[in-house]
Amino acid sequence: MKELVVLSGKGGTGKTSLTAAFATLAGRVVVADCDVDAANLHLLLAPILRDTGTFQGGKEAIIRTRDCTACGLCASLCRFGSVRESEGKFAISHCEGCGVCVEFCPQHAIDWVPAMTGTWMVSDCPTGRMAHAHLRPGAENSGKLAAFVRKLAKEQATETGSDLVLVDGPPGIGCPVIASLTGADAALIVTEPTPSGIHDMERILDLTRHFGVDTRVVINKFDINLEKTQRIRDLVSGRGLGWVGTLPYSPLFTQAQVEGKPIPLAFPDAEITERIRLIWKETKTWIER
Ligand code: SF4
Ligand code: SF4
Repeated sequence: MKELVVLSGKGGTGKTSLTAAFATLAGRVVVADCDVDAANLHLLLAPILRDTGTFQGGKEAIIRTRDCTACGLCASLCRFGSVRESEGKFAISHCEGCGVCVEFCPQHAIDWVPAMTGTWMVSDCPTGRMAHAHLRPGAENSGKLAAFVRKLAKEQATETGSDLVLVDGPPGIGCPVIASLTGADAALIVTEPTPSGIHDMERILDLTRHFGVDTRVVINKFDINLEKTQRIRDLVSGRGLGWVGTLPYSPLFTQAQVEGKPIPLAFPDAEITERIRLIWKETKTWIER
């Protein structure tokens, strides 16, 4: 089983549209939406829920009111403003899980319990199984949830005999990106020829090099700035990395999103679909080597 993670240093490069298109072209595949802070792959792949559950990704503090003497120490110690007092009673909401109040409460009146930080799902899509999740608003530990979604996806691949797990990674270079990347067979970076696109691509390339993941690059909207496209080519070549291709700007990316379909399904005969087919063919050859 191979695991390909699709990443972009920044949002808005077309990463999720490309991942959904790859899933459609791949045939039998398991997809994992590891962008758990802002999951949106489900909007394109029409998943039908098979199984779901809660995810506990850390701990939170809860005051046992019957043992609390209302001394207020926890409120003064909490740097996150999570302890509130109302009518002489103290309670905690949106705990950041540092554990300080639990340690210092003189009455030992604060419980330290597993925190429900999100919901995981396994679904059936026209492209095969999908593992995805929702992080509870304001919850921490999106990295742990992303790692859990990857684990779920691998289990589904084993169960269904799929030989490819396609991971839609989060944007940026933070904890959930690292959780989506470490141990993967290959990383495909989707970038665009803009100053922020180049800057963020370099940061993500530093990350994939650090973790020793075989990496290639695709430039989306290459024709919006040919000079910057050449700059990206030079940077990528300078690092000794390979290409899988370039895509021109196409309004069909947005139109397919509006229709809630992957591009090859929404516009099977369009030129952009043919370009994506070629890029998928190149990608497949690369990861199957
Ligand atoms: S430190 Fe303990 S006893 Fe004091 S208000 Fe907080 S929970 Fe209550
Ligand atoms: S565990 Fe930390 S963040 Fe949570 S309420 Fe206590 S002091 Fe605040």
